[in-house]
Amino acid sequence: MFYEPADADLPSEHDWSTEKYLNHTPQLFDAVRQAVGPDTHLLHDVHHRLTPIEAARLGKSLEPYKLFWMEDPTPAENQEAFKLIRQHTTTPIAVGEIFNSIWDCKDLIQNQLIDYIRTTVVHAGGITHLRRIADLASLYQVRTGSHGATDLSPVCMGAALHFDTWVPNFGVQELMPHTPLADEVFPHDYHYDGKGLMHCGEKPGHGVEIDEALAAKYPYKRAYLPVNRQQHDGALWNW
Ligand SMILES: [Mg+2]
Repeated sequence: MFYEPADADLPSEHDWSTEKYLNHTPQLFDAVRQAVGPDTHLLHDVHHRLTPIEAARLGKSLEPYKLFWMEDPTPAENQEAFKLIRQHTTTPIAVGEIFNSIWDCKDLIQNQLIDYIRTTVVHAGGITHLRRIADLASLYQVRTGSHGATDLSPVCMGAALHFDTWVPNFGVQELMPHTPLADEVFPHDYHYDGKGLMHCGEKPGHGVEIDEALAAKYPYKRAYLPVNRQQHDGALWNW
């Protein structure tokens, strides 16, 4: 199954209503939890769409459904904002897919405001810097959960899996499968076993090659992520 949200030459527009979202989401997880039973991990990505107090309300209302994590509940430029969420809910919090360094998450980790740090090899300074973030996180029992969207190439996934294999406070690795064509352009040794586990493979280094001749057959094609517009006044909102 392939999901590619960057689906248009110019951003497609979606409607957004925080009120409807906050009312609908607990009903959704109630139905899903009943359907899958107590043992399946459920994760939810809020995409920075809520204010801190709204995120606190969402986390609280989702507690009965025992989420594995609630991701990016509010923008994290102000790390202190997470204090407000933390004071109100025991739903675990994951953040960091757009962080660039340890300074973006130092306060979140040291103040125990999050449970999973989602920084990636490609955004957050490479393997060496990611190791520093993970070591800081381990002091506070924060686990890793590296971002793994399709706009991160198989090279990033190969490096991430080697990092994951090392990291003592590993949590989980996100996988959004690339298309078969992308996999062909980036021949790699890692694989998904179809049962929830990924393996980094045996090749030296990150184990990913780039077939430049094949890549040259596919020139750059612009593709944007969508944008949200507030239903009540049309203003742009986090997608
Ligand atoms: Mg996300």
